[in-house]
Amino acid sequence: MDAYCAVAVDLAAAGTDRPFHYRVPPALAGRLDRGQRVRVPFGPRTVVGWVLGAVDQPDLPAAEIRDVAAVVDPEPLLTPELLDLGLWLADQYCCLRAQALRALVPADLRHTRVRPLEEDRLFPADPAAEGPPASRRAQVRAWQALLEAPGLTRTALAERAGCGPEAVRALLAAGLAVARPMAVRRDPFADVAAALPPEPAPASPTPAQAEALAAILPAVGGPRPEAFLLHGVTGSGKTEVYLRAIAATLAAGRRAICLVPEIALTPQTAARFRDRFGEGVAVLHSGLGEGERHDEWWRIRRGQVGVVVGARSAVFAPLPDLGLIVLDEEHEGTYKQEEVPRYHAREVALHRAAALGIPVILGSATPALESSAAAAAGRLRRLTLPARVLGRSLPPVRVVDMRTEMEAGNRSVLSRDLHRALGERLARREQALLFLNRRGYATFVLCRSCGYVARCPRCAVSLGYHATESRLRCHYCGYSRRPPTVCPRCGSHYIRYFGSGTERVEAAVREAFPEARLLRMDVDTTGTKGAHARIYGQFRRGEADVLIGTQMVAKGWDIAGVTLVGVVSADTALNLPDFRSAERTFQLLCQVSGRAGRGDLPGEVLIQTYNPDHPAILAACRQDSDAFAAAELAARAAAGWPPAQQLVRLVVSGPDGPGVAALAQAVARGLRGEPGVEVLGPSEAPLALLRGQHRWHLALRGARAEVLREAAAHAQELAARVKGKARLAVDVDPQSML
Ligand code: ADP
Ligand code: ZN
Ligand code: ZN
Repeated sequence: MDAYCAVAVDLAAAGTDRPFHYRVPPALAGRLDRGQRVRVPFGPRTVVGWVLGAVDQPDLPAAEIRDVAAVVDPEPLLTPELLDLGLWLADQYCCLRAQALRALVPADLRHTRVRPLEEDRLFPADPAAEGPPASRRAQVRAWQALLEAPGLTRTALAERAGCGPEAVRALLAAGLAVARPMAVRRDPFADVAAALPPEPAPASPTPAQAEALAAILPAVGGPRPEAFLLHGVTGSGKTEVYLRAIAATLAAGRRAICLVPEIALTPQTAARFRDRFGEGVAVLHSGLGEGERHDEWWRIRRGQVGVVVGARSAVFAPLPDLGLIVLDEEHEGTYKQEEVPRYHAREVALHRAAALGIPVILGSATPALESSAAAAAGRLRRLTLPARVLGRSLPPVRVVDMRTEMEAGNRSVLSRDLHRALGERLARREQALLFLNRRGYATFVLCRSCGYVARCPRCAVSLGYHATESRLRCHYCGYSRRPPTVCPRCGSHYIRYFGSGTERVEAAVREAFPEARLLRMDVDTTGTKGAHARIYGQFRRGEADVLIGTQMVAKGWDIAGVTLVGVVSADTALNLPDFRSAERTFQLLCQVSGRAGRGDLPGEVLIQTYNPDHPAILAACRQDSDAFAAAELAARAAAGWPPAQQLVRLVVSGPDGPGVAALAQAVARGLRGEPGVEVLGPSEAPLALLRGQHRWHLALRGARAEVLREAAAHAQELAARVKGKARLAVDVDPQSML
């Protein structure tokens, strides 16, 4: 940066969302780069900002322009490439530059200075020294251990020598041993490695894998980047294709990112990557401790690793020489960030790859309808793995009609079929997985006399009963209370817990099969660090017969002993007020079905539902995603939903209901009549009250995304002019309509 530079100040306010010009003082000349953080004077204050680039002609007269005060990070956090990605993000998702740029770097790296972790290691002061007197036997043993293995910690040395800590202390006190602080890497694999046995690499790809790789490998490091949709049923060997494509990327001297949808998946996938690529793998996800994230991030930034495995935000991993991006389970909703910036990692990956001229692989057994449509339009090149590897077959899937269970007088959450199937598994010492798409809060309190349901006073959603703490709790805001013993509305004593949360299913299975060893995996059992990996490891080692879990167990799990998958209720997902509910149900059912019979034993899948004839459920039974996609794409086109049309959702929220409704109506009036924009709503959002905030929403629909983004920007201006506490949020390409 020569004389002047443009800076994006790190203030999240619409009024400051533009470049500001500063002079580069001689002391900083040649030291600033695009993406570097600097401290600049701003009004009476000094603020942090990101250097956007050099400017020839500052927009202020020479007398008014001020100097950049200082450099914040000696080693810039953002590369110019990532800076550009951040600016694109702000445009694409209608947010402030400051908000977009912040999203690129984990908060703890931006704010605090996490220090490298240091640990004392012991060395002999002089290896030729005589050592402690022979009468001090423990000290002599410690001294010998020190000579044999210099560089151990105090504890490790005492352990090796078989002596107590006092013998080690005596060596230090006598000056025979010296302690030197050494940096240690906080290794996020430390827990995982112990929990999971290594998985050997298959000797050679299957013919279908070879065919997919023949298409992908020329694009790796080659002149013609391409975006691929790898469509393969669960267990068809997609991960093996990623691993080989990444190996080719590394061989070409470049680096790769592999995104996985959820932290629950990361232990297993990350361990598989670690088996294949060793120390050259870094992981990034929200479950890392601050120190771990700091160390992993800098290893990535400095190019000390070749592969990053991580959840959504790892799409921003600052890897130099990026050569490939993989998105596993590309249809997953977790790739969409539900707070500002509301980006979709798939779209970011496609854009980042195109900007760099590198290939992308989107993999799924049940591609998102957006991706199916993109493949049909030729924007993605479709590759298929039609069958499971090694001739393993997909398990037969059967629907259990829960209405007939009720008629037959069975009120348990386990149908007679599922009960029988579980009994068979236990008798044969095979494993079963029971799946619910809601967690504990699905158990709500209902009055059988008047129908009263205990709800959160702030969020208007039903409160969940948590048996472990005997309390009702709101899943959205955390509000909790003791469960009522009489109905607060009618005074009846017939007030009961209803629904079938994981705890309730666990209780039902325990009652039916007291001898079964059960594990539960849901938000309540996985709150602590490493809990996913631990539970997964226990189940995989066969230390339990039945695992009961939520979404978390649906994806990516590969456990050879599982021969039965039971979906306790397919209906909750189906009945959500969202145009994607059929797609989500279909994907979920296929995913969980894919967990059965992955080993040498054949599997069986039972889906319990009150809607046995729903097309999504029928398609899931046949695991026919092409047929589902064709039918659902036609239905979406007819109804005008994405991907046939583009969508932007506007959510107005605030503490006072009438104010929120008024703003939503004013915005809708202001936008009606804009060409190319259809305004749907406004109406109360399905979650009409959330964390004490009233919520209304409207949707903008049209053929062209940029026209909708312009309308959204117009809505933001309108909202900014209205006084009051109501706020407007813009969600481009929304994944949830709740
Ligand atoms: P997906 O990612 O499609 O679910 P994976 O890559 O996890 O499939 O493969 C499923 C199982 O098959 C894994 O246990 C994997 O090790 C094994 N596998 C994959 N490719 C091969 C191959 N070419 N030969 C033998 N086994 C394979
Ligand atoms: Zn009542
Ligand atoms: Zn609440």
